[in-house]
Amino acid sequence: MVRWPSTLRWRLTLWYIVLLGVPLIAFALGGYYLFERTLYERTDRFIGDALTAFSREVGAERRAASGAMSAMQTTANEVRFRDLHIAILDSAHRVVAMTPPQPGPTRDEPPTDDAWLVRALAGRNLDNPQVLTVPRADGDYRVISTPLIVTGERFGLTGTYGLSDIDEMLARMRQVFIVVLPLLIICAATGGYFVTTRSLAPVSLMAARAAEISTANLQERLPVGGSEELVKLARVVNDLLDRLEASFALQRQFMADASHELRTPTTILRTEADVTLAQTHRSEEDYRTSISVMRDAAQRLGRIVDDLFLLVRTDAGHLVPRRDALYLEDIVDSATRGVRPVAAQRGVHVELRELVEAPFEGDADQLGRLLLNLLDNAIKHSPEGGTVDVALTRGNGAVAISVVDQGEGIPADARARVFERFFRVDDARSDGERASIPGAGLGLAIARRIAELHGGRLEVVESRPGRTEFRLTLPVS
Ligand code: ADP
Repeated sequence: MVRWPSTLRWRLTLWYIVLLGVPLIAFALGGYYLFERTLYERTDRFIGDALTAFSREVGAERRAASGAMSAMQTTANEVRFRDLHIAILDSAHRVVAMTPPQPGPTRDEPPTDDAWLVRALAGRNLDNPQVLTVPRADGDYRVISTPLIVTGERFGLTGTYGLSDIDEMLARMRQVFIVVLPLLIICAATGGYFVTTRSLAPVSLMAARAAEISTANLQERLPVGGSEELVKLARVVNDLLDRLEASFALQRQFMADASHELRTPTTILRTEADVTLAQTHRSEEDYRTSISVMRDAAQRLGRIVDDLFLLVRTDAGHLVPRRDALYLEDIVDSATRGVRPVAAQRGVHVELRELVEAPFEGDADQLGRLLLNLLDNAIKHSPEGGTVDVALTRGNGAVAISVVDQGEGIPADARARVFERFFRVDDARSDGERASIPGAGLGLAIARRIAELHGGRLEVVESRPGRTEFRLTLPVS
């Protein structure tokens, strides 16, 4: 079974051959057939006209001469048509008259004996016109016979014309086709092969370059060149590489930040354990203090690992929020109540300013966590004796939950970055004033992800010394 080639280059080349070859062959065959027909028609017309003129001449001779036989023989001897042999056969297929051999060099002089003509017309009724091609050792002959009536007697008037000229012309034409057609097809194939090779060269180059790109050299790009489609393809792949590189860089940064964050509590744990183990005699009180330091460090470690796990799951698309029917006012109310004892320890008052009824479809746990992150930040950054205001309002097809504190605010240049993973204003500043505020810089990143997963938005609406407002907007139908 013939198999279609697998490479594009050979497929296109084959298409070239088929698309050029088939019409070319059809055109050649059609042209040849038409030419052949025209030549035969012209020959037949010539023989027919000659026979008409001959029979008219026989009639005239008949009127002038005495008998039919002598009229036919006289006409046959006197009337000549170049290269045409005329013979008259009676109803018994006997030759009664025929033109003598032509003097001088003539083209195909048909054989002048009558036997072959009689044989060729054997079995044919000469009362009807006959057209036939008779093959002979020296070439084909066209024989046309028409009925001829002289003094009431019926004869067959035949004209014989050699076809060697026509056959030669047709043979030459066939030879030209046999040479030229394959040549043209070979030209098309070679041309097609070179054109496709040339146009596909950038693809091969792109493939070679793409094969070299790995995580180690992700900054490399494909060469942009060639036809419009290839330029487009190279750009699309390069854009993909841009995104991949950015994503890899982000991933690397994330790993670096995560290990950095995990290092602090791990170091505390190890140091505390080393110090405790190095001292032989310690009081119960000392052990308790050490263990509580270790527990805090372990708690911090646990929190960071939980947060990281949650972020990784949202990145991988595994954290699909539930769509439970819930009331946002319940979540706001319970979160506010939940943080009040911690806030009170720091001398901060948490106030619920406004609470509308807000039915919503979402994940109560995730939304509660979001709110706790906001409240936790607000309390951490509030001055002693300060107030954190919480409000749940409704308007414009959305509900808004805002958390306002009276803390030192977020510097303008850090406002957009607080939602980035591991970003902490406290790390960015070196005044040491806020360095004591705990946190790994993941709370707001998680909060914003949860808001987005619920089709909502979390943003810093306002932040200046004495007033910072975070607002969560959720769409409600
Ligand atoms: P963290 O766990 O460190 O609080 P977050 O992602 O919750 O991490 O916050 C990122 C940073 O944004 C914090 O380190 C803090 O510097 C700043 N920030 C967040 N909330 C407030 C706020 N209410 N007032 C001032 N700064 C804030």
